[in-house]
Amino acid sequence: MTKHIFVTGGVVSSLGKGLTSASIGMLLEQRGLRVRMQKLDPYINVDPGTMSPYQHGEVYVLDDGSETDLDLGHYERFTNSPLTRDANYTTGQIYLSVINKERRGEFLGKTVQVIPHITDEIKSVIHKLAGEDVDVVITEIGGTVGDIESQPFLEAIRQFSLDVGKENCLYIHLTLVPYLKAAGELKTKPTQHSVRELRQIGIQPDVLICRTERSLSHADREKIALFCNVPIEAVIEEKDKTFSIYEVPISLVENGLDEQICRKLDLPLGDLDLDDWHDLLHRLRNPEHEISIAVVGKYAEHSDAYKSIYEALDHAGIAHRSQIRIQRIQSEAIEKEGPERLLAGVDGLLVPGGFGERGIEGKVEAIRFARERNIPFFGICLGMQCAVIEFARNVVGLTDAHSTEFNKDTPHPVICLLDEQKTITDKGGTMRLGAHDAKLEPDSRSFDCYQSDEISERHRHRYEFNNVYRQQFEAHDAQIAATSPDGTLVEIVELPDHPWFVAVQFHPEFKSKPTRPQPLFAGFIGAAVERRVERGERAAELEPPKAH
Ligand code: GLN
Repeated sequence: MTKHIFVTGGVVSSLGKGLTSASIGMLLEQRGLRVRMQKLDPYINVDPGTMSPYQHGEVYVLDDGSETDLDLGHYERFTNSPLTRDANYTTGQIYLSVINKERRGEFLGKTVQVIPHITDEIKSVIHKLAGEDVDVVITEIGGTVGDIESQPFLEAIRQFSLDVGKENCLYIHLTLVPYLKAAGELKTKPTQHSVRELRQIGIQPDVLICRTERSLSHADREKIALFCNVPIEAVIEEKDKTFSIYEVPISLVENGLDEQICRKLDLPLGDLDLDDWHDLLHRLRNPEHEISIAVVGKYAEHSDAYKSIYEALDHAGIAHRSQIRIQRIQSEAIEKEGPERLLAGVDGLLVPGGFGERGIEGKVEAIRFARERNIPFFGICLGMQCAVIEFARNVVGLTDAHSTEFNKDTPHPVICLLDEQKTITDKGGTMRLGAHDAKLEPDSRSFDCYQSDEISERHRHRYEFNNVYRQQFEAHDAQIAATSPDGTLVEIVELPDHPWFVAVQFHPEFKSKPTRPQPLFAGFIGAAVERRVERGERAAELEPPKAH
């Protein structure tokens, strides 16, 4: 029988529910259990694919092409739970499905209502992940307890334990215990209120995870336990992590969370092997190099917009024993003041994916700077398209070359709409999405990274390299280093004469893990480290001998 863990959040948003859920999943897996992860989001959009990064941060793409919440990125980085379309549902999707059933007459004339029809639909998507080969399903409920939008989801998970038995469900509530400077103490009242709200709708949390900047005293724990009606050992402290998110699972273990979960759900308590994780933290704490990577994007100031990219850079840094200093640079700033000062001293440039014209010329200028100054460059999706535009204009000599996304009338449409996109008008879920195979040129930097000529990476785009220009690019020493297996779509463009210039049409960042960095990110950071080391040596040579 599959067990169910429900993770809810209280007091405020942005408490790191996704990270905490992912950490729980990881710990249970390390104890030998088979875990599935799921996020239920209370907003009305059918998926986050149509939302602005300002609103929602990154859109995380799965192998099957679903566009999902960025918390699923944490799930994939922390656990081995296979994620599919069933791992992320929104209110929009739930209602859409119920309304479609109603239109098909499946409710046999009944009045369709939130309870039971919407709640039944929610329960059915939770059940979908259970099965003989699954020990635990962890379902995270987006939003905060008390939000109007969350109510049907909370009602559904309340009913769920009646359906499958109380002993098979565990409710974990993540809450905030703020430190009030003026009073000089931690305050438990917001947590009490938030749990009261949950209990009012019939959910008694089994475990409280308390986010806090200071350690909880025994008296704090006693108070929270008493007012929230949980045993004192179920009050788990999760202190703010100033060093790394990879400390979260370790601190949850230290607070006994995984043992409690297994005990409460009557799950076998296998040995916990965290050697890889400790090794990773050791490498993070003891870097041998410090390198600076510029990420030039439209949403540089928004820390969630390129979440997986920043994570993948860190993973590659761990592999190269390097601390990565990420310089987030607005592409428009480069348009205003040029690249010299903003990119001075960086060891690598990464231009990520994106949509819309704002800041495009800044990206193109930044790429030109990296190409001409031999700075390692990694272009991803729109970043690749900008690299193609830059090369076409400044090397091939195609003045005004552009993507038709930004200039429909360009004389040289080096990036143009994919054929399959030409007749599509709907915006939701209609791009070239999900995992696609590509074949690599054996004599390429990318091949060196992957050590394979066949790869599969995830996509999310409407535009592509225009094959009309392929020969001209090759004649100017650009290499088409990978294409789709039938050779029709360009997947990677490289400049073999440059120390490391790799531009990819797909999103490699979605498949990077802290313990298994994505090969291209590892290659990019390797090249950046090399540059840093060489520059250090050159600087040492130039330094005048010290006077005694
Ligand atoms: N806007 C570009 C396209 O649709 C790039 C998309 C992306 O970077 N994800 O092709």
